[in-house]
Amino acid sequence: MSIAENLEQVRGQITEATAKAGRNAGEVTLVAVSKTWPVEVIQEVVDAGQFVLGENKVQEILEKVPVMSADLKWHCIGHLQKNKVRKVLPLCAMIHSIDSVDLAERVDRIAGELDLHPEVLLQVNVADDDAKFGFSVAELEEAFYDLSALANLRIKGLMTVPAFDPDPEAVRPFFARLRELRDRIEDSSKTSLPHLSMGMSHDFPVAIEEGATLVRVGSSIFGKRDYPV
Ligand SMILES: *Cc1c(COP(=O)(O)O)cnc(C)c1O
Repeated sequence: MSIAENLEQVRGQITEATAKAGRNAGEVTLVAVSKTWPVEVIQEVVDAGQFVLGENKVQEILEKVPVMSADLKWHCIGHLQKNKVRKVLPLCAMIHSIDSVDLAERVDRIAGELDLHPEVLLQVNVADDDAKFGFSVAELEEAFYDLSALANLRIKGLMTVPAFDPDPEAVRPFFARLRELRDRIEDSSKTSLPHLSMGMSHDFPVAIEEGATLVRVGSSIFGKRDYPV
């Protein structure tokens, strides 16, 4: 199948999953994860009408964003090293991967210097998995209160990357947990956190049933990557 056909299929699955959950298809934004793919390949998905893209490596963001259409929205979805913030910040529409107070403070400070107000999500390690980045469930709420005082960040919600499990039902509880954490913080802080970034190629329909508003889908659109990133 072509990239355009894959995209069509993924969009169909999004519509199906939202309908099943009694939600509007418009509540879910597809982030096409183009990591490892060259700009010629990414252009195919753009030509098919997909304008929101996700990248997880700073080097790829720096190479691709400046040479593609300025109308595209690039989401930074991978762990961000602190010394790369200044370069990447002007190129990203949203950062999904704010995974520590230190990083948040750095992004806020540099955003101030650059006169930017970046939309960000806090990455949560819902399974308390040692191999994953993100705030632990235990520290999240307090971290949120500290970070919501920062002047330049616009905290829009939460993101999670559960450990891979071939059975999407096995990760459903983690998606549900992220939504519960979001609801709890919204209630206690009286602020709106509209976004939940969760779900990848093999499990995004389940994530949508559990409330995802941003799904990050790579291989189901572009095909299998040569190397796993
Ligand atoms: C690579 C990646 C994805 C997309 O993964 P696929 O399984 O190819 O859909 C989603 N989120 C993050 C953080 C990623 O690094």
